[in-house]
Amino acid sequence: MAETLGWIGIGSMGHRMTRHLVAAGHTLVVADAVSAERAPAGAKIAKSNAEVAALADTIILSLPDGTASEAVAKEIAAASPRKVRTVIDTSTIGIKAAETVAGILSKADIAFVDAPVSGGTAGADKATLAIMLACPEPTFERLKPLMSLMGKPFYVGSKPGHGQAVKLLNNFLSATALAATSEAIAFGTRQGIDMQKILDIVNVSTGRNTATDDKFPRRIINEKYDAGFTAKLQLKDIKLYLDSARASGISNEVASSVVDVWTGLDKAIPGADITIMYPYTRDGRAKPKG
Ligand code: NAD
Repeated sequence: MAETLGWIGIGSMGHRMTRHLVAAGHTLVVADAVSAERAPAGAKIAKSNAEVAALADTIILSLPDGTASEAVAKEIAAASPRKVRTVIDTSTIGIKAAETVAGILSKADIAFVDAPVSGGTAGADKATLAIMLACPEPTFERLKPLMSLMGKPFYVGSKPGHGQAVKLLNNFLSATALAATSEAIAFGTRQGIDMQKILDIVNVSTGRNTATDDKFPRRIINEKYDAGFTAKLQLKDIKLYLDSARASGISNEVASSVVDVWTGLDKAIPGADITIMYPYTRDGRAKPKG
């Protein structure tokens, strides 16, 4: 039987990703601040994050943001008794938080692996996530078989935050594509052209992107609006990108506009799925009609 693994954060992503670990024969001990009832059958539910640290050598985190990862890292480092030697954070927390979490854990002699993921809840279900690992290379080689159970692991670099950097730039591109495509399709349909026709043409032309070949045909044209990722989380990611881009001195006029557009949607319709960007844009950046 494979080693006992710890998992903290059984949310939208966590409950899906843990299923693959149990299916592969891992013994899992899990915790969640609110409820771990979505944990896969067979997983042991711990009473606290400290209990997970006492029982597992390796703990994987799937938490909302850097504040949560820092708080959990402090609890893990302070746990007594404590078995954990490695913490892998799959959350999107940004570069600064990844460095802070690595620092908290290293003081307790615990290795930190920066490992944000991309591919959404569908990728978590199908174990096709892109997993961006930053850690010493031998650690990557050791963890590759484990991480392969949930998707495709990529080695990004050795510094905590390298994984975050790629995750953030990817989400900036994806958020930009959806915001820009919403404007373009609203323009095209305003001319009286059928949305499907526009997509058919763009998808074999140079404007093709993840919004035209996935979100519009599968979740927007049928008015399902069910990407399973909220504008609020999207905004968290692109704000982290903008902060990091500003700090690095890289031009960020596009990122700045994209953050403004997503802030508008999040304020107008709290809790909106990202695909609501289309009706919100079509209706003049107001609450969509009907
Ligand atoms: P979520 O909010 O559904 O799940 C997070 C879980 O962490 C919740 O169940 C919450 O109760 C728990 N939690 C919060 N603080 C805690 C603490 N101190 N101790 C223990 N548990 C705690 O979020 P999610 O959608 O599953 O996303 C998780 C991470 O993955 C985020 O960082 C997100 O940006 C990233 N991500 C999400 C998606 C997606 O499509 N949802 C895609 C890629 C990456």
